[in-house]
Amino acid sequence: MADQANPFRSLQQQLEEAAAYTAVSDDILQRLKQPERVLETNLTIERDDGSLAVFPAYRSQFNGDRGPYKGGIRYHPEVSRDEVKALSGWMAYKCAVVDIPYGGAKGGIAINPKEYTTAELERLTRSFATELRPFIGEDVDIPAPDVNTGQREMNWIKDTYEKLENTTAPGVITGKAIESGGSAGRIEATGRSTMFAARETFGWLGRDLTDATVAVQGFGNAGSVAAKLIEAEGGRVVAVSDSSGGIYKPEGLDATAVADHKTETGTVVGYGSTEKITNEELLTLDVDLLIPAALENAIDKSIAEAVAADVIIETANGPITPAADEILTEGDIHVVPDILANAGGVIVSYFEWVQNRQRFAWTEERVNNELERRITEVFDELIEAYESTAAPSLRMAAYVVAIQRIVRAYEQGGTWP
Ligand code: NAD
Repeated sequence: MADQANPFRSLQQQLEEAAAYTAVSDDILQRLKQPERVLETNLTIERDDGSLAVFPAYRSQFNGDRGPYKGGIRYHPEVSRDEVKALSGWMAYKCAVVDIPYGGAKGGIAINPKEYTTAELERLTRSFATELRPFIGEDVDIPAPDVNTGQREMNWIKDTYEKLENTTAPGVITGKAIESGGSAGRIEATGRSTMFAARETFGWLGRDLTDATVAVQGFGNAGSVAAKLIEAEGGRVVAVSDSSGGIYKPEGLDATAVADHKTETGTVVGYGSTEKITNEELLTLDVDLLIPAALENAIDKSIAEAVAADVIIETANGPITPAADEILTEGDIHVVPDILANAGGVIVSYFEWVQNRQRFAWTEERVNNELERRITEVFDELIEAYESTAAPSLRMAAYVVAIQRIVRAYEQGGTWP
């Protein structure tokens, strides 16, 4: 893909563009464009056959003006220093736009976890936790799951940290199993915020999500939950995909049945009587709502020119390149940015951390209600910023809100609250 941008440059470009709609000075903007600290390490583990394997691993801590650093840990062969730096920045702006008291962070290991056994992955994760230990902590930096990591990895990290620190610190990591201090509603949170964002956007546009046709790229944790919840709201999910390809059925799929098929076979492809389509075909389908929920840079310039959806809700982080974004803005396609649409994950992570600090567990109903309240309030703030500034897109308006919050915290000289 010609303009498959370096994600860190994409982030910096977004910040430069958004800063033009704020009163932020150039020197402060420089600070807002770079992470404060990046850990780069090479993890060596013994494989089950006795040989050694080495994996590059990273943790980027972007901005701590509003609170401890916070962000996921990703296992993927394409993890790189620049990808992690970009993702940590998006986390900082995401936490600011949804007004939770964290700075951004992100980590990752360059590995294809499918090629390793559970025992090997446990040794690798515990090794990463040992390297991370001086840099993380309940009030310092709080990791969470991301692509190809989940409760299992979070529990390994928590356990390693607690053993090394000789303490109990469930709030050192979020996305844990309920039994280890996890929160009700965390697994579904990102897909749920996607659904709330879709519902609010359609309401703002004077339309109804009921009967809207929907395509979801990336039928993993976030994408599959979003599809199920949008179906429950009456939306018609007509296409979904994963790394093996996509499926299309104009009359509508059954997202729960597709998820069961993926659990059994490892892919959505081959489910029921559906047409097999490529990921590119899915992204350019004539639907009301398109949800990219796989990886960054999925929609580049050439795909953007062919996008036929009216609304895009970004569930993945950075799925649209800056060049593609311009084309979509010019084409009046409303894009609800990742830093708001997928913020459910970090918002419920925040609720988990609060519960850990309080040693008190909320009900799932309370978690979901608090999440709904937060997303709808933040959506209203976003629309107000969009309509009251010259910001050309919802993404720019979201960055304006986020930049202003971080700058205010910085100018007041420290961590908020
Ligand atoms: P996941 O690993 O559960 O799912 C990713 C899905 O994308 C898989 O089904 C995979 O097959 C598919 N995929 C990979 N490459 C693809 C390609 N080229 N084309 C189509 N599909 C492809 O991960 P997830 O947790 O659902 O995360 C998905 C995205 O959402 C990521 O960008 C992640 O950063 C973002 N996100 C996740 C959370 C969360 O809480 N899980 C929170 C915020 C943002």
